[in-house]
Amino acid sequence: MSIHDKYNRPIISLRISITNRCNIKCLYCHHDGMLPSNEEMTPYEIIKIAEISKKLGVKKIRISGGEPLVRKDIIEIIEGINNIGFKDISITTNGNYLEKYAKDLKEAGLNRVNVSLDTLNNDTYKFLTKKDYLNQTKRGILKAAKIGLYPVKINMILMKGINDNEVKDMFDFCRENGLVLQIIELLKSESCDDESFSDKYHCNIDSLEEKLSKIADEVKVREFMQDRRKYYIDGGEIEIVKPMDNTCFCENCSRLRITPNGEIKPCLLRNDNLTNIVKYIREGASDEKLEEIFIEGIMKRKPYYSEDNEEYIVDRVVRESRL
Ligand code: SAM
Repeated sequence: MSIHDKYNRPIISLRISITNRCNIKCLYCHHDGMLPSNEEMTPYEIIKIAEISKKLGVKKIRISGGEPLVRKDIIEIIEGINNIGFKDISITTNGNYLEKYAKDLKEAGLNRVNVSLDTLNNDTYKFLTKKDYLNQTKRGILKAAKIGLYPVKINMILMKGINDNEVKDMFDFCRENGLVLQIIELLKSESCDDESFSDKYHCNIDSLEEKLSKIADEVKVREFMQDRRKYYIDGGEIEIVKPMDNTCFCENCSRLRITPNGEIKPCLLRNDNLTNIVKYIREGASDEKLEEIFIEGIMKRKPYYSEDNEEYIVDRVVRESRL
């Protein structure tokens, strides 16, 4: 039985960011809403947090970053989480090092992988990442799929004039290789180098969704995943990830986050309600105390996009006044 927050939302998944470091610098990157910090938790601390979350009913662990595969102890981390008994362990990666790690990750107990790949075009890849890693990323993806990390999901952020002409190619690549395509609407990012990037390249995803709903053989809605829609077409699968600016997103949020420096982060969109849990682990606190701290973090959860949140109302009025 999963623990529920004050708004009766179950806490089903825990997203642990294990580093802020990344080997590439994507033009649009929002750094997953993290505060800048160089501090990282040890494998023991990460595994302990996962263990406490399991006792409180968390079912899924996702490891993210920064880029999680830059950590040399990534296999130890996955192995430790697996040993606790989690049946759903996934990772979000840029895939640059996946070819090297896929087999060891699978053997360590990793179940699924999401790879961020916005393009199949070498020049576009270089434009977005400043690196020439497209081919090694593709090899990593195919290896992950071959050894049974299932499903391998491709995260493609749709950008006007950059890759919005590649949806069909990306879908074919995914379908032919048994991968799931997730198309993500570009979010405004204050932490990326060029703040006007999202204004210039933002691409509304609604018209694509309309087209998909017309040609899909089947459509499914994912409960507890912000009611995201999945479209099944000719044996392939596309999931649409819409911007978080909707109340439905928050109503259905069942995810808690941990920052690289060991703080419980109840909401991607706020940094003013964190709870440091790692300091208690470092002080040698009992599991009972750690559970108490974890629950304290959960009880700070509050839907950001809600008519009760003044911050959201102000934010919305400012945005609407710009339209
Ligand atoms: N380094 C890993 C990776 O590349 O997948 C994990 C961290 S990355 C910040 C996590 C996810 O955030 C990626 O799937 C990326 O596509 C997404 N992301 C980053 N910036 C974004 C933005 N401005 N809008 C939408 N999604 C974004």
